[in-house]
Amino acid sequence: MSQQPVPDYLLPDSITVSSKGELEIGGCGVIDLAEEYGTPLMIYEEDHIRKRLAEAGNSFDAASYATKAFLCKHIARLATEENLLLDVASFGEMMVVLKAGIDPSNLVFHGNNRSLKEMALALENQVGKIVIDSDNDIYNLESLLDSGIGGDKPINVLIRVTPGIQANTHDFVKTGHKESKFGFSVSTKAANFAIEHLLASKFFNLLGLHFHIGSQIFELDSYKLAIMNVAELMTRYELSELCIGGGLGIPYVTGDPVISITQWASEIKNYVKTLLPSSVKITAEPGRSIVGLAGITVYKIGVIKKVSENKTYVAVDGGMSENPRPMIYGSNYEAFLPRAFRESRPEPVTVVGKHCESGDIIVKNGYLPADFSSKDYLAVPATGAYSYSMASNYNRLPRPAVVFVKSGEAKLVIRRETVDDMLSTDMC
Ligand SMILES: *Cc1c(COP(=O)(O)O)cnc(C)c1O
Repeated sequence: MSQQPVPDYLLPDSITVSSKGELEIGGCGVIDLAEEYGTPLMIYEEDHIRKRLAEAGNSFDAASYATKAFLCKHIARLATEENLLLDVASFGEMMVVLKAGIDPSNLVFHGNNRSLKEMALALENQVGKIVIDSDNDIYNLESLLDSGIGGDKPINVLIRVTPGIQANTHDFVKTGHKESKFGFSVSTKAANFAIEHLLASKFFNLLGLHFHIGSQIFELDSYKLAIMNVAELMTRYELSELCIGGGLGIPYVTGDPVISITQWASEIKNYVKTLLPSSVKITAEPGRSIVGLAGITVYKIGVIKKVSENKTYVAVDGGMSENPRPMIYGSNYEAFLPRAFRESRPEPVTVVGKHCESGDIIVKNGYLPADFSSKDYLAVPATGAYSYSMASNYNRLPRPAVVFVKSGEAKLVIRRETVDDMLSTDMC
């Protein structure tokens, strides 16, 4: 974090600054959008997302977009238009993608605890691939397929393994360690038994292995270690696909590393070359690195409270409900005034929301220009991933509106929730 202006690498690709000094994204003024659609408002640059989707598809042998990072019908269609598959991990995610009109063969179905019903839905729709996570998945699929649900051809599956490595990231987003709840352990040979079972079964066409070691990862060596730990299985069973999951980190604050999807892919592929035959397809499923930097959140400043010499709270009209990441992971963000994007920010502030929690902090160590006031809009960059998708109605705050901008045009992709929306499940 720094008192300098927010660096461009925390923002969507196509930002400009108007003659008045105001930030524009995709040719649209951020303040104009806030005036038109209200706040809190999420703004995504569509071409930024398209470019990252295409980059992922081109730099790996194939890629899917991990929809949990941010999902609505519009982005599901963008991903398909850029030739990506779509990862879904629940009934709800699957239904949103299907309702967007996406061909089910583009879906990859994940999850560590899918019900028989969810599996049946996947089979009835003939999703492209199912990632098998437990013995329970195998029993469920076999019983459904045996009863004729899902057709009579073997279904395409990957098997998720835990390569037994500790990715250097927050505990809650580590998923590849030995005692992870996900997948089959490589070290206990649970993976071998499952692979052998799937290879021998008439119900499955086992394409290969899948791992996902965590999220917000900058140390690409973690992937190499994971690949090293699964290479023997790939070779022994002559498997044709290795999916390395998602997890590539994005910068959230000044000074964070910036690693492109292309760099990530090329380092992985160069390493794989040393271990596996070139016929093995290397696939990935990025989420955060597709949408994270494409989005910003704009708020209206309300109460400003200086509680001590070096603590000033700036309260905005949202909070942990539309961005729970600081609360869950202790994540850091930057703040800036969209009217003064290139100005230095000498004033240390703590940006808080309007929820009834002291932990309702959006930006712990932020800086703003000295003349900020309650007339201002305040923006937080890099909120495109795991903000809206984790948003709640806590304190009965409606979820924000989401607009996509492109070539000077704004499109309302998700409207702001209403009180009626929030009451739509109340039965009496
Ligand atoms: C969450 C998840 C991803 C995407 O992770 P990112 O860190 O957003 O890239 C990919 N694959 C699986 C299985 C996941 O659970």
